[in-house]
Amino acid sequence: AWARVKRRLRAELGEDVFASWFARLELEGVAGGTARLTVPTRFLKSWIESHYLDRVLGTFKAEAEEIARIEVGVRGTAAPARPAAIGAPKAGPASGPLARLHATGTPAPVAAVATPSEHRSADAGGDLSGTPLDARLTFASFVIGRSNALAHAAAERVARHQGEGALYNPLYLHAGVGLGKTHLLHGIGHAAREAGRRVIYLTADRFMYGFVNALKTQSALAYKERLRGIDLLILDDVQFIQGKSIQAEFGHTINALIDSGRQVVVASDRPPTELEALDERVRSRLGGGLVVEITALDEALRVSILSARLAAVRAAHPGFDVSPQVATYVARAITANGRDLEGAVNRLLAHATLTGTAVTMETAESAIRDLVKNREPKRIKIEDIQKLVASRYNVSRSDILSERRTAAVVKPRQIAMYLSKVLTLRSLPEIGRRFGGRDHTTVLHAVRKIEKQIGEDAVLGDEVELLKRMLQD
Ligand code: ADP
Ligand code: MG
Repeated sequence: AWARVKRRLRAELGEDVFASWFARLELEGVAGGTARLTVPTRFLKSWIESHYLDRVLGTFKAEAEEIARIEVGVRGTAAPARPAAIGAPKAGPASGPLARLHATGTPAPVAAVATPSEHRSADAGGDLSGTPLDARLTFASFVIGRSNALAHAAAERVARHQGEGALYNPLYLHAGVGLGKTHLLHGIGHAAREAGRRVIYLTADRFMYGFVNALKTQSALAYKERLRGIDLLILDDVQFIQGKSIQAEFGHTINALIDSGRQVVVASDRPPTELEALDERVRSRLGGGLVVEITALDEALRVSILSARLAAVRAAHPGFDVSPQVATYVARAITANGRDLEGAVNRLLAHATLTGTAVTMETAESAIRDLVKNREPKRIKIEDIQKLVASRYNVSRSDILSERRTAAVVKPRQIAMYLSKVLTLRSLPEIGRRFGGRDHTTVLHAVRKIEKQIGEDAVLGDEVELLKRMLQD
């Protein structure tokens, strides 16, 4: 059943997400309705717990009804301090002082947490590899129109380039969400690999995750060498690359590649000049090759993308048919992006399959209604910040709200206050109230202190950036 659960997660979440967070998730055992899963690092544990616990439980239940609870542990560390439902903690390489610290619930500062087993699993290579390419996202399946013709042509040329040196280095594609950047990047990756070139494709998350792990396990050098030894580096969503030390590494990496004549391709939601977080020199380097924007899909292109999707779906589901009227309606109504067009096709298919009837204008309208109106960005709650930070530092949320002043609790509390200030619109007094009735000067002190520490301690800076990303995601 476990193999099926993993397969379902892969299918449901997509290759990218699966590879980043679930590839190394393992089942340790099942007892009393609780499935105990393990991952190699604490970072993965807290990411999965804060983002995907319900999803994993749901998927598990679908395969094995009796499962009512999921627990995620870190391999090689002792079992959690709460009553362990399953087995005895394994005595392993990590049953040393660090493991005992974990077991008593003392938070270990993130950068310092590296049990021997974490070392090994990180070195084993998972973190050093790129994100897999999606087989569907090829040049062949990419529909060319006015808004993306230049980007497509540049991508093809870069992918098929033979011989010394690189063309337009870097090739920098930018566009709003769902306009085909990732599709083109995967297309480049496939074509270049077919031509025998060594390619690594990385999302920003994956790049950051790789570096955070490499820094933790002191294998940063190996990671860098690995990245610099390839022919083509493709980096997706570079606007998300955050954290001072990681940004510096990012700069070094692209400089080293470009200087040695290797091709770099980058995509972002904004032009290089607007990557405010990045160092001026890195920005100008990114803008020093060819910068191409993909603009909003015009109606003709939307109709073509939609017809292509419909044709692909029809090939797999011969009974499925959509009248030209409905197709036109959908292509007109969904102006935002290609992702929503694809979502719309899936909705129509689900509708047709479930009801066994043809798709009428009326059913189409209701099926895609929520795709038509704009979705709002996610609002972050102080409670969620407290929960995530608590789990990240192995304390409870009530510890954070309590009067306790031990360093083990003060640091996560201050980080949580800092994140509340920068991620929500709440005032300092309001934040103080939500942190067990503290004074606004206490909050201000915490915010200043963390700001200062981030400036001085790059590893802490990266850690806080990752927490931010986890909350914003
Ligand atoms: P981005 O990375 O710019 O946010 P994606 O590349 O993920 O966008 O595109 C979103 C979806 O729309 C994908 O399923 C993609 O295949 C599809 N899509 C976007 N543009 C095109 C296009 N020109 N031809 C075919 N499919 C497209
Ligand atoms: Mg993308």
